[in-house]
Amino acid sequence: MEEKKKGGLTELAPQCELVDYKFLPAYLKDNQFILKYYRAEWPLKQTFLSIFCIHNETLNIWTHLIGFFIFLALMACAGIVLQRGCSSARSLPCAGGAAGSGGAIVARWPFFTYLAGAMACLLSSSACHLLSCHSRRLQYVMRGMDCTGITVLIVTSFYPGPEHRMLRAKVFFCMGLSGVVPIMHKVIRFGDRPAALVTTGYEAAMGVLYALATVVYSSRMPERWMPGTFDILGHSHQLFHVLVVAAAYTHYLGAVVYLQWRDSEGC
Ligand SMILES: [Zn+2]
Repeated sequence: MEEKKKGGLTELAPQCELVDYKFLPAYLKDNQFILKYYRAEWPLKQTFLSIFCIHNETLNIWTHLIGFFIFLALMACAGIVLQRGCSSARSLPCAGGAAGSGGAIVARWPFFTYLAGAMACLLSSSACHLLSCHSRRLQYVMRGMDCTGITVLIVTSFYPGPEHRMLRAKVFFCMGLSGVVPIMHKVIRFGDRPAALVTTGYEAAMGVLYALATVVYSSRMPERWMPGTFDILGHSHQLFHVLVVAAAYTHYLGAVVYLQWRDSEGC
């Protein structure tokens, strides 16, 4: 890819120049408060390689790609630690779980399903931000994948594109809210256990992070206050991504406490 420096910003070969919002085709116009540094209908190869260039999607791609690698590392660590805990448990078998004091098998697969769901969500979101600018058709496919990934994350934990922005935010928020029911049940039934309070603390923190993510996502703050200032760094979608990764990580911490609790007491 031929590059040249102009005005301190990297410019790409003529067919791959970064353009302003007003020159975008209608299907790529999403956020009128981000004014510059758009990629529009680049060839597929250049679109792929733009993962290493500076444009207004660079941090959207990398925030979730780094999140994906964090969860990959968590899955590897959890696999080793849980397997070790499993082999030191008092009774076997432990192929699919560890035995609690009651002799019941504590299944590990929901925990790993959640981790896999989070990784699928983060990777598909990252790919969506990288490739959607290539064509209307690819944008349609990638957005579908992104929504599926988000739904997978919500369903496997229990919660977070341009038209219907508010409706989408509300749907994701309500799906997250459905997680309140099992939490209430836990607090009523096991409110006297320290682990119940710790996990509820993590769940409350996760709820706050997801709620904040929904507000930032739907309000487009801070770029609406100063259009053009946050094109590269600091716009709402980047903040939304960071909040989603933080919330997913909080859920992971809570899930680890649940596993330890269930290992010690059985089902
Ligand atoms: Zn995104």
